[in-house]
Amino acid sequence: MEKQDHVHVAILPLPAVGHVNSMLNLAELLGHAGIKITFLNTEHYYDRVIRHSSDAFSRYMQIPGFQFKTLTDGLPRDHPRTPDKFPELVDSLNCATPPLLKEMVSDSKSPVNCIITDGYMSRAIDAAREVGVSIIYFRTISACAFWSFHCIPDIIDAGELPIKGTEDMDRLITTVPGMEGFLRCRDLPSFCRVNDPMDPHLLLFARETRLSAHADGLILNTFEDLEGPILSQIRNHSCPNIYSIGPLNAHLKVRIPEKTYSSSSLWKIDRSCMAWLDKQPKQSVIYVSFGSIAVMSRDQLIEFYYGLVHSKKNFLWVIRPDLISGKDGENQIPEELLEATKERGCIAGWVPQEEVLAHSAVGGFLTHCGWNSTLESIVAGMPMICWPSFADQQINSRFVGEVWKLGLDIKDLCDRNIVEKTVNDLMVERKEEFMESADRMANLAKKSVNKGGSSYCNLDRLVNDIKMMSSQPQNC
Ligand code: UDP
Repeated sequence: MEKQDHVHVAILPLPAVGHVNSMLNLAELLGHAGIKITFLNTEHYYDRVIRHSSDAFSRYMQIPGFQFKTLTDGLPRDHPRTPDKFPELVDSLNCATPPLLKEMVSDSKSPVNCIITDGYMSRAIDAAREVGVSIIYFRTISACAFWSFHCIPDIIDAGELPIKGTEDMDRLITTVPGMEGFLRCRDLPSFCRVNDPMDPHLLLFARETRLSAHADGLILNTFEDLEGPILSQIRNHSCPNIYSIGPLNAHLKVRIPEKTYSSSSLWKIDRSCMAWLDKQPKQSVIYVSFGSIAVMSRDQLIEFYYGLVHSKKNFLWVIRPDLISGKDGENQIPEELLEATKERGCIAGWVPQEEVLAHSAVGGFLTHCGWNSTLESIVAGMPMICWPSFADQQINSRFVGEVWKLGLDIKDLCDRNIVEKTVNDLMVERKEEFMESADRMANLAKKSVNKGGSSYCNLDRLVNDIKMMSSQPQNC
């Protein structure tokens, strides 16, 4: 890819670990292709990251033309910014960002000539059109989640939503093309679990997803061999111009082989778990993590704990400081868990996940099925036990279990006997079957990002399109 100095892209993620990290991966790939990048973080997110690791973003500064800028999210300082307030954050960001984007486009020294934003920034489209630059959306979720979000108005029109009272959650949903026959009520994104079709979360996700079709293109962190049939549905019915360029973490390693592990994090990374893993036998450890946002009650934690202990497998468990929900004083790791864990477990506040998944001692991943974790597990060839918490995780886990056959989905169940049994099924009884399909998919993932693969070619096309769009003013 040739160097073109006049191409300047502004990249704006939502302020959450999964969103920022996958957009940083994209930014690094584009920067490597000679595109000047301005990466925008909200002040609140940037400050939280820097507090734990002052050099978290410094590596990117070595990429020629790469710079960071911060912007306000428009919320008051003391706003909790918790997941339940997500619509407020999205609305506020949508109001706060267009003036800044317009300013960056009209900058006299180094004007921005293409904008890539998180798919939730629907108002950025109007700003881009006003000032005549192209805009591409990046949705950091799976294609299957995107497609189900897109179909929500149709599911409502068909009377399959809202969920009525205490009805059977195994009822099949028939109005998501390509998912007939296996998509159950319980597999729909968590915000569909409401009785009111006017629920603000439900409306927000459906509205923002439908608006994605108005952008000049849609980037997805996925690959054709994994989600080809669903990508075709999206191309045919919503966004014709899709760039499926994932898995981004694997893609980076191909394009920039010297890249070392690095991602922004809101907690200090505890590397001592790697020394603990070094002492464990091959494929003996189940790695447990529920990502950066999901919370669980103390009772749920205890069920998982006994399930893990009774499974007789060694475990590495990420327990973030804010994982356990509850009133003050209740959200500490229970003493019984800390004591008994010493024998067969290792607990850490935050780990280098990609390195953990690649470690030969790890033989399974108990995950919440956030999209980044799911992809990282696929790349590492690691079978999964899925216990989804919210948003797209419910549908990701259905695909992991039922469509891709990469693991076992235990959504909506939290029982020590089930945890014990599934850990044993995954790592003992059905180990060969799952290892084989995980290996197969890992190879397809690698093929897609290697020269000539679908994601590799799509990234080249994205870079060329950005360069071409940047040299031509867009319709105002
Ligand atoms: N992660 C990590 N260390 C941990 C736990 C998670 O680096 O101890 C990373 C993980 O590799 C992934 C991200 O945090 O890239 C979580 O993103 P995901 O989409 O899986 O879930 P979310 O946090 O958005 O729910």
